[in-house]
Amino acid sequence: MYNPSSLKAEEFINHEEIIDTLAYADANKDNLELIDQILEKAKERKGLNHREASVLLACDNKEKIEEMYALAQQIKQDFYGNRIVMFAPLYLSNYCINGCVYCPYHISNRHIARKKLTQEEIKREVIALQDMGHKRLALEAGEDPKNNPIEYILESIKTIYSIKHKNGAIRRVNVNIAATTVEEYRMLKDAGIGTYILFQETYHKESYEKLHPYGPKSNYAYHTEAMDRAMEGGIDDVGLGVLFGLEMYRYEFAGLLMHAEHLEAVHGVGPHTISVPRIKRADDIDPTAFDNGIDDETFAKICALIRICVPYTGMIISTRESQAVREKVLKLGVSQISGASRTSVGGYCEEEPEEENSEQFDVSDKRTLDEVVKWLMELGCIPSFCTACYREGRTGDRFMSLCKSGQIQNCCQPNALMTLKEYLMDYASEDTKKIGEALIQAELENIPKEKVKEICKENLAKIEQGIRDFRF
Ligand code: SF4
Ligand code: SF4
Repeated sequence: MYNPSSLKAEEFINHEEIIDTLAYADANKDNLELIDQILEKAKERKGLNHREASVLLACDNKEKIEEMYALAQQIKQDFYGNRIVMFAPLYLSNYCINGCVYCPYHISNRHIARKKLTQEEIKREVIALQDMGHKRLALEAGEDPKNNPIEYILESIKTIYSIKHKNGAIRRVNVNIAATTVEEYRMLKDAGIGTYILFQETYHKESYEKLHPYGPKSNYAYHTEAMDRAMEGGIDDVGLGVLFGLEMYRYEFAGLLMHAEHLEAVHGVGPHTISVPRIKRADDIDPTAFDNGIDDETFAKICALIRICVPYTGMIISTRESQAVREKVLKLGVSQISGASRTSVGGYCEEEPEEENSEQFDVSDKRTLDEVVKWLMELGCIPSFCTACYREGRTGDRFMSLCKSGQIQNCCQPNALMTLKEYLMDYASEDTKKIGEALIQAELENIPKEKVKEICKENLAKIEQGIRDFRF
């Protein structure tokens, strides 16, 4: 029985409800009257439920799709302006005891190089990341209680936060590790993590079990209920995601929204972020072996609809996607992107020789952070290295209510400009700096409150003098 408030995976992600939803969407995909009503509702910027969203996804009327794109762009502009938050993944260890058939780290892959960073190596990686200009990391590690126990993850977080190289600092560590216990989530919370991210991979239970034939991750319910345990452990901000390509995208999309509805129903706060990875080529993994791949157009439509359906949730896209795809979806609602990512263990310090490949997936966008920052600014975006919210205690429902009232704009815009200024002063090439300085001057005018604008200007001058880390 479908029940968004239940704590049982099969009740809040209910298979029959998804099948009914898809049938309802098919029956109504040409019902322009209903589609117009749903679009009208979406304009209120309070989101859509999984049924309404699925009708829009099924609709293939070109004119209506254009309306969806225009609305997504408008919502993106209203909530996020032209700011794009930057981050980088940091792979700690690729030891893993799971059997995920789409990931090269699965335990049966005997030829991939297995690596685990020591604290000294983490330090070197973090310095390399700081020297690029990164301030926000997403920590990645395989599931392996012997090699990567929680103590190792906690120690690594402590190491990362402790490193201050030149003007560099990692100010927010998001964590993407396997589903765990309430107690361990509490430890992560106490270690000062930002968002806890866990991809569902697929919401389809039967497929999930085939794709995860063994290891702790094979337990669908334990994995699907992880966010509830994380929240019970005190983590306010959680990040959802599916790996598009594993199952029928329409099923995943409905499941994803049902998961968001469930978090809202039980905890009073939806997901902080949603990631939209697509399956990619990697060692031992051929993406064409999965027959649910989605083309770029469908991918763009999914991004636009996520923006419309959960307007307050950040949307993340990684370097799995090419520059061209990233450019398209930036406008449609993506709010965070990674730059200059290495998806191998220890990859920021050293290029790996071919025979020692430890990458999780092939990176499509291989540009440097400076190139990505410059490209974003040329597209009219403000690259932001802001990490202010969780450091100011703006998490969970407190964060969401500021988002919903629009007040967060008074923080995001000046924080984006001040952190961009730090980047320009400390790490940018001359060309990037020139473009960035002009952008900051122009964008100062878009700070809504006069008083905030004044303080921001003063802080920008102080950054010129070498002082760092201002935030609203
Ligand atoms: S997806 Fe995660 S759990 Fe699965 S094999 Fe890869 S690292 Fe391990
Ligand atoms: S102020 Fe908060 S919401 Fe805005 S960019 Fe910074 S961390 Fe994100």
